[in-house]
Order: sequence, then C-alpha cells, then structure tokens
Amino acid sequence: MTNRRTIAESYACATHSSNLRHREYTDDTDRLTAIAWSDSEFGGKLFRLKYANERATYAPTLDRWREVVEKKALARRWELSAEDMLKVANLSFEFWLFDICPVCSGHGVAKLANSPVLGDAPCNACNGTARRSLICDAGLRNFILDMISNLEERIVSAGGRAIAKLSVKLDLTK
Ligand SMILES: [Zn+2]
Repeated sequence: MTNRRTIAESYACATHSSNLRHREYTDDTDRLTAIAWSDSEFGGKLFRLKYANERATYAPTLDRWREVVEKKALARRWELSAEDMLKVANLSFEFWLFDICPVCSGHGVAKLANSPVLGDAPCNACNGTARRSLICDAGLRNFILDMISNLEERIVSAGGRAIAKLSVKLDLTK
C-alpha cells in the first residue's frame, strides 16, 4: 500500500479545487499531475465530465457540444433540419458519456444463471463489447457515429496534452 495519490485521484481532486496551491498538493509530482489534468480546452472539459464525474459541467459542456456539431454540420454540408441536428448532438453526447452496457455493467460477459457469478459466454445484449448499443433513427445513425468518434478523438488529444505537459515539467526527456 502507498499513500501517494494515483494519477486518477490527483486528477479528480484537481478538478474539484480551484486552488492548486492547496495544502493537499505538497508533493511536487502530485501538483504537476494536477496541473496537467487541469486542461482548460474543450477536450479537457469532456475528459473531466466523463472520468472525474464533474457533473456540474454537464449542461454547459453539452451546450458547447451542440455548437460544435452545428459547425461540423455546416462545414460538411450535412442536410439536417435544426431538430435533427439537435438529436445528433444530444444522442452522440449521451451515448459517448454513458456507453456502458446496462445488462452486463460493462463486463462484456453474461452472468451464470441464478448466480451473481460471471460466466465465460459473451453478454447477449452487447455481444461482448461491454458497450450499450446505439438506438437512434436509421437516417441519423452515421452522423451520430461520426460525432461520437469526434468526441473520442478529443479525449485522446486531451490525454496526450496532459502527458506532454507532465513530461516537460518533470523533464522525462533526460
Ligand atoms: Zn453487455
């Protein structure tokens, strides 16, 4: 056992503290970790919403996402009504945020009959992918999948930025 915070814990605390000089951040490494995670870009906000349960930011982040979808739709000349555009924004966001299969709770395998124990067979509901299936209008499906990929790319970039900041501050290049 160790008393050092894990990266995830430092990250979660950083998102709940506006003051990174708080006494909890006495360890330099922890402080740097916290700084790296406090990404002010949109990807950072998405990251915190999904992984640090920063639910207070749900509504403003969804609003911002609706603007992003609108811009993408214009740039790509998607012929969508305002109503459909809103559906694409809302459904992609909801699916991306709550993507765990509710039947197997994200394990990907089915429970044994009359037992809480997990078996070897893949979950019927998600075919073992552990993700819930996307239920939407067939005509909007590809637009929604496209925007889900966009959200996933933003998360990967946010993680990359955090690691890059950390490696510069900790001078991991030497
Ligand atoms: Zn499942």
